[in-house]
Amino acid sequence: MNRPSNHADDQSPRSVAGPAARTPARQHLPAVDRALANLADLQDLVVGLALLRDPAVRRPWRETPLDPYARAELDDEARADRADRNELAPGEHIDAARPDVLDLLADTLSRAEDLAWHLSRAAWCPVLPPSSWTSATADPRRYLAHAAACLPTAVLGWENGGDIAHWAAAVTGAMLADLTAALALHVDGQTVKTICPWCKGGLAGTYTWRVRIVPGGEPAIVCESGTCQPPSRDVTTWWGGTPVWPLRDWPWLARRLAHLARRAAPATPDVPFARAEGATGRAGTPTDLTAARALLGGLVDEAAWKPTGTEG
Ligand SMILES: [Zn+2]
Repeated sequence: MNRPSNHADDQSPRSVAGPAARTPARQHLPAVDRALANLADLQDLVVGLALLRDPAVRRPWRETPLDPYARAELDDEARADRADRNELAPGEHIDAARPDVLDLLADTLSRAEDLAWHLSRAAWCPVLPPSSWTSATADPRRYLAHAAACLPTAVLGWENGGDIAHWAAAVTGAMLADLTAALALHVDGQTVKTICPWCKGGLAGTYTWRVRIVPGGEPAIVCESGTCQPPSRDVTTWWGGTPVWPLRDWPWLARRLAHLARRAAPATPDVPFARAEGATGRAGTPTDLTAARALLGGLVDEAAWKPTGTEG
């Protein structure tokens, strides 16, 4: 299926932002166009959802940063759960498919089928045969495409066509919201798990970077510590007094972060005793008697770390 032409003027980056970021702009479209755009997005997203059926596929869940207390609490729960389990405990077998994804797929299919049925009737089009899980008719895309094909005729053919358009836009909007949520495409507000190298995470020293949809509809990383003042060569643009790195600068930002992290990392200390006199040739082996005695006695002090060695 080809994409409808009303996507051509859409500038937001599809791969990262997805439909969620574009929905606000869509509110101004007429209901028919909104419904058609939703139907086109649904046909794309359903493929992504179907891929998630396989438990081996890693989900694009956004990660929630945990502070040490929350992590300890979760670890404790997991330990208690493990202690209680035996081989008869529920949930011990590994599913061949993710049940929640199958539920959502079945739900999407039945809603798409319902929508296509109503719109076919309204547009005097032949109704598609009902779906069955055992055949190719279980693909919701058939019904979504059929609904999109019937919608304009249904809207133009009836006095209350406007109501039909609004109903279709509402139904497809709800389906789209469920699918984008399942695919974790809501990027706005997502926490970036990096301590900002310029403000060191603000006063609290936590993750202060968020992904925000900045004016223009583009996702950008924003440091929200309130105290962030990177040097001008390190920041792309500013928004409301906070530094902003738009999507196109993320590769550069990642390289810059790696560079700053390398520079901040302490130099690796030498292997103790590696250069002591009378070496056996093995790096890191205590090689003179004094050093060996110091090691055995637990007396590894600063003097022992000095490459020249003051003992003797
Ligand atoms: Zn910062």
